[in-house]
Amino acid sequence: MSGAGMRRGVCLVLAAAPGGGKTSVSRRLLETEPDLQLSISATTRAPRPAEQEGVHYYFKTPDDFAAMAARDEFLEHAGFLGRRYGTPRAPVEAALAEGRDVLFDIEWQGHRQLKAKMPADVVGIFLLPPSMGELERRLRGRGQDSEEEIARRLAVAREEMRHWEDFDHVLVNRDFDGCVAEVRAVLHAARSARARQPWLPRFVDGLLTG
Ligand code: 5GP
Repeated sequence: MSGAGMRRGVCLVLAAAPGGGKTSVSRRLLETEPDLQLSISATTRAPRPAEQEGVHYYFKTPDDFAAMAARDEFLEHAGFLGRRYGTPRAPVEAALAEGRDVLFDIEWQGHRQLKAKMPADVVGIFLLPPSMGELERRLRGRGQDSEEEIARRLAVAREEMRHWEDFDHVLVNRDFDGCVAEVRAVLHAARSARARQPWLPRFVDGLLTG
């Protein structure tokens, strides 16, 4: 038998400065790509209104988070603004082995760790804003944040953007639909990478000898 086999899933990391658009781009992608699932992180920060346990995050006490880290249950974990964030290992490994793709909404330190640990699996995309003015406008558009909070978010944004060179793909998020289409193109191209199709050598052998 020499039929086409199952591919390995893609680890698609989408990173951006806060206000860079990754939440809305991720949401649209997840709605329209049935083979793509979101990696749900653990965090020690408190839930925001409307955030649900197991949907947006697994909310942990610092002790529980530390215990998970000690048991090596995270693929990566990092500190961000005094809180801890980590990617639970088991769901990612299961998805990749079953040929499903996983989307990660994580910051640059997490991406760096994932890339070091799973270089053949990870495809990193960084979304840049078209200008700092536009980024600030998007941050202000979020609601009633104080000037202090806006300034803090801009500082965080600048710090995140300093790491754009770690990523395989860099997109300037000028318009939402165009950006979603570009991210989708990267995902689709990554699916056909030779390394994700371990069944190919036998298949091609079969074609050539059959
Ligand atoms: P927030 O608290 O606003 O939901 O997330 C803060 C930052 O932590 C965002 O940049 C988000 O992408 C990042 N983040 C969320 N989950 C993880 C994770 O599991 N690992 C890492 N390294 N960063 C994460």
